[in-house]
Amino acid sequence: MSGGGPIDTIEHDVLVIGAGGAGLRAAIAASAAGVSVGVVCKSLLGKAHTVMAEGGVAAALANVDDRDSWTVHFADTMRGGQHLNDPRMAELHAREAPERVRELEAWGALFDRTKDGRILQRNFGGHRYPRLAHVGDRTGLEMIRTLQDHGIHAGITFHMECTVTRLLTDGGRVVGAFGYERERGRFRVYRAGAVVLATGGIGRAYSITSNSWEYTGDGQALAYEAGAELIDMEFVQFHPTGMVWPPSVRGILVTEGVRGEGGILLNKDGRRFMFDDIPPAYQNQTADNEDEGWRYTQGDKGARRPPELLTRDHVARCINREIKAGRGSPHGGVFLDIAWIKQRIKNAPEHIKKKLPGMYHQFMELAGVDITQEPMEVGPTTHYMMGGVRVDAESQMSTVPGLYAAGECAAGLHGANRLGGNSLSDLLVFGKRAGDDAARFAREQGRVRTVAPAQVDAAAREALAPFDRTPAGDGNNPYQVQHTLQGMMQDLVGIVRTKQEMERALEGLAALRAREARVAVTGNREYNPGWHTALDLSSLLCVSEAVTRSALARTESRGAHFREDHPEKDVALGHVRHVVKRGPDGAMQLERAPVTPPSPELLRIIEEQR
Ligand SMILES: Cc1cc2nc3c(=O)[nH]c(=O)nc-3n(C[C@H](O)[C@H](O)[C@H](O)COP(=O)(O)OP(=O)(O)OC[C@H]3O[C@@H](n4cnc5c(N)ncnc54)[C@H](O)[C@@H]3O)c2cc1C
Repeated sequence: MSGGGPIDTIEHDVLVIGAGGAGLRAAIAASAAGVSVGVVCKSLLGKAHTVMAEGGVAAALANVDDRDSWTVHFADTMRGGQHLNDPRMAELHAREAPERVRELEAWGALFDRTKDGRILQRNFGGHRYPRLAHVGDRTGLEMIRTLQDHGIHAGITFHMECTVTRLLTDGGRVVGAFGYERERGRFRVYRAGAVVLATGGIGRAYSITSNSWEYTGDGQALAYEAGAELIDMEFVQFHPTGMVWPPSVRGILVTEGVRGEGGILLNKDGRRFMFDDIPPAYQNQTADNEDEGWRYTQGDKGARRPPELLTRDHVARCINREIKAGRGSPHGGVFLDIAWIKQRIKNAPEHIKKKLPGMYHQFMELAGVDITQEPMEVGPTTHYMMGGVRVDAESQMSTVPGLYAAGECAAGLHGANRLGGNSLSDLLVFGKRAGDDAARFAREQGRVRTVAPAQVDAAAREALAPFDRTPAGDGNNPYQVQHTLQGMMQDLVGIVRTKQEMERALEGLAALRAREARVAVTGNREYNPGWHTALDLSSLLCVSEAVTRSALARTESRGAHFREDHPEKDVALGHVRHVVKRGPDGAMQLERAPVTPPSPELLRIIEEQR
């Protein structure tokens, strides 16, 4: 059965769910290993989140500063993640990122160039040296274009505009997926030897976010439902600079590249407040005057970084503090000023337009602000999920055989806070690793002959349930439930957290679960966005609960997780990570697990780079 009509079954050795950078890189790797590969995605090819990436991809190519190396990149990543990172993942990432970027170039990516023709690299928060390979502020577009072209020529099959709602299992192993075509509402079964999740983030669980409509935490929830473990879910990154005005564009990202090019943060009194609070761990790497900070952004190797380029968690909290203290801008943000550089360089407006063309257009078109002449208004926005599916560092296999995860929906590399630019490199390095191993696994294990019909029937019934219910006012309208959830997560489990508020959030989540079970939609399965929203709710509620439970359990402040009732670090919790999984009774369980310590060699590198 299927609630009407036969269900198409599609077979691949490796099925990749997600067509962002991680999914495409995984698919290319698996395809290169000679197995058949299918990629399924919610939207059209080329529309994944990765396309929005602006600032660049971090890789220690040492083209602009020859003091850079994988060891410095590794130590920066560990420091940024407050040492909750998986050290082996941080090592592999730093070692392999340069090769992955050069490979992208060989496949046709046109990066900005140094004067002598090498890939240009720019400064970014938390990176000691200029490290981000970039294409103006449209790096993600170039990356997606290149990977897509390469993937299509490799013979990968793409299944666009199809949402996966369930993973299918056989004897504890993942053997496929169930989904629906978004346009026509028809169901599909994918049968595969191995499945790679590459579904991106969870930003849509919050009301102010830089993420697009696709990022509802599906991969994390699919993995959880299939029995996999999720880790580090308390670590949600609030990017310091999103647009705040007009309301229709609130949350849209303002790239860190603006600060990398010399942009400064000011409160309403014109004070450069970032100089007021420099964390001890960064004191000896941070400029102590404005002139030194400016020289750093212009490539002076003797200068230290301006405080605007401290890690995102810290900058976001400083901005939050200014706003709460009544020193913010008229629309509830602070000022980000790049126009001031006309005091330092000739032709500043042309320079800004050349370096930050996307930002210039974004503010001109959406806010009527000319960033070459006046400051922008910015404030924190939910941006990136450090937590996600627990994976093996070498292979990216989850704790469930046959199920892999890579990119933003996986976890481990970034620990308590991700450095800007480290996501695009993460996608390339671990996307490839996931694809390599998924191909090996699929070859060795083969595909199962049939998927249990009962699983398919259950998935179909679950997907159709909202049509069987009667709409009854706003109480069971999917948009209302989603809106309430987003507002609640923003207010109660946002940038500053307390026990009381998070306990209220847990009660609220239980109430929303009950409402989700009554959510009703009208119309039929074709072109029905209300139905799509109803189906997204289950993932959003799952990841929101995992975030809230993990954040409640972390009774300290570390990285992106800030507890007003526990503002200090707890040394003991610096060695502990939270693991979330489905308990035997179906309820969400949270456990503590030790963080893997670095090997003696990695420890030596960390000490040397302090
Ligand atoms: C505005 C912006 C700027 C950024 N700039 C940078 C930057 O400069 N440098 C950097 O390193 N990082 C940056 N990031 C972060 C980075 O872009 C993302 O973390 C990264 O692109 C995520 O890639 P991914 O491959 O994991 O997933 P995504 O690119 O998010 O792709 C996810 C894919 O999964 C599909 N999908 C999701 N759910 C399902 C489902 N249920 N069924 C089927 N398909 C599904 C989607 O359709 C999509 O194809 C930025 C993020 C934003 C929002």
